[in-house]
Order: sequence, then structure tokens, then C-alpha cells
Amino acid sequence: MNNFDLIGKRIAITGGAGVLGAALAKGFADAGASVAVLDLAEDKATVLAKELGDGHIGTEINVLDTDSIHTSLEACIAGLGGVDILVNGAGGNHPKATTGPDMSFFDIPKDSLEFVSGLNLSGTILPSQVFGKHMVAANHGNILNISSMNAFRPLTRIPAYSAAKAAVSNFTQWLAVHIAQEYSPNIRVNALAPGFFLTEQNRFLLTDKETGELTPRGEQIMDHTPQGRFGEPDDLIGTAIWLVSDASKFVTGIVVPVDGGFSAYSGV
Ligand code: NAD
Repeated sequence: MNNFDLIGKRIAITGGAGVLGAALAKGFADAGASVAVLDLAEDKATVLAKELGDGHIGTEINVLDTDSIHTSLEACIAGLGGVDILVNGAGGNHPKATTGPDMSFFDIPKDSLEFVSGLNLSGTILPSQVFGKHMVAANHGNILNISSMNAFRPLTRIPAYSAAKAAVSNFTQWLAVHIAQEYSPNIRVNALAPGFFLTEQNRFLLTDKETGELTPRGEQIMDHTPQGRFGEPDDLIGTAIWLVSDASKFVTGIVVPVDGGFSAYSGV
């Protein structure tokens, strides 16, 4: 089991103050890592780092601003001595890029489309450039992207988010090959593809605001999830630890679904 050990590993996680990011940050800290919680919401990042205890830091990052990413890396070097592992957790959809009775596909504003594709794709690539260069200098490293199960087959209503996450999965494979061939086979790049986790971004797409009952979309998801439930944030931890630890040291360029069987089920 020593291969799964994260003792001595320094992990920076963007979107670390979010629902899934915070669960991962806690899971990594419990497994022995020193964690840098990086988030646009600096206050939340700092509070979470304090909760994690001594040896962890929280600081601001804007994953769309290269200067801000450099500043965060400097804070990680000052606070943790460097970064061995980057988790690109910042991402998400936006209500204005979601089709529905009040928004046809044909009317989705360009800035909403660009916001969602930018946050998910550029927000993964830009930190990978800055932190990846740091890893190349150290000749070791590990990047874990957060894609989505909708990268395998797009979900209805969220065209930009589905396309952007497909691009994140594609970029995961691209960077895994590029960095191993051009720089170091000791730097790996993989992704998690979470299925449906009930979080702030999708709660009221999947459950009714008043009653808490499943919406028709929530029911459809449940019918298509062989394990018959939404994911809990903690469900990601074991797979994430496997991918960032030496336990997966000959694994690079893969996207692992953590979705209760959703992506395996044809519906029949
Ligand atoms: P969340 O909204 O709870 O967390 C996202 C975090 O990212 C927030 O803390 C936010 O402050 C931060 N953030 C937003 N813009 C940023 C920026 N420009 N720079 C830095 N930080 C920024 O979302 P979540 O549900 O925890 O999702 C985390 C990741 O998992 C996202 O990439 C999301 O797309 C993905 N995902 C979520 C689900 C799900 O069911 N919730 C499913 C599949 C994939």
C-alpha cells in the first residue's frame, strides 16, 4: 500500500475551495500530502487551508490570468517548497449557456459560450503551462485534470460545457504524450471524469427548489445510473489518490469515469 502514500507530496489544486475540490483537498491531506488550496475565492481557500491544519496553504488564483497563476505558483514555492502535483479543478457551466424554455440554442450569447469554454479549457491549459514548466525543471510531476462524463457523450442542454470538457479530455491525452516525449517520462497527465454529483452548480437542474424532489432531468439521470444514486464528493478521492500517487506510475493519458456506471449504460 506504500505506493498510494502521499506523504511528502506537494499538491496544488485549482478550484480547491469548490465542492469537489474541497473534498479532494481533504482526501489528499488525509493521505499525507501538503496541499495548496488555490481558488478565485481567496477567503474560502484560506479558510479551508486553515481547516486542513499546519503545512497547508490557501491562496488566490485566477486560472484565466497567467500573471495570477505565476503568483500562485510563487506562493506554493514559498509555502510548500514547490509543487509535485497539479489538480486542475476549476471549471463549471453557466446558466446563461444552458438551453431551456427561456433560452434557445440559437440565442445563447457569445460571451456566455466563451465564458464556459474558456473557464474549462483555457482554465486547464494555462495552469498546466505554468506549473508544468516548474515540473519539467524538477524532472518529475503529475497533472490531474477534471473532465466530465459528458465528454464521452454530450448531455442535453449544455453545449459549451460538453464541448469544453471533451476538449479537456483530448488535451489530457495530448499533454501526456507531449510532455513524456519532449520533456520527461516522469511527468504524467491524467483526468477524472465525474458523473453526476449534486453540487451548487447543478442542484436546481436536478432537484426541485421547493420540494427537493428529482426534476424530470434528475429522474432521467437516476434511470441511467446503474448504481442508482448521485455521486458524493468523497467518491472521487480513491481514484484521485490512485492517479496522483506512485500506484499509477505507468499510467498516463487516461480519463477515468467515476460515474456509478452512467457512461457504460446504453439505457437498455
Ligand atoms: P464548484 O463551483 O463547487 O467549484 C468550482 C470552484 O472553482 C469554485 O470554488 C470557484 O470559486 C472556482 N473558480 C471559478 N472560476 C475560477 C477561476 N477563474 N479561477 C480559479 N478558480 C475559479 O464546482 P464543482 O461542482 O466542485 O466542480 C469542480 C470541477 O468538477 C469543475 O471542473 C466541474 O466542471 C467538474 N465537474 C463537476 C461535476 C458535478 O457534478 N458537480 C461533474 C463533472 C465534472
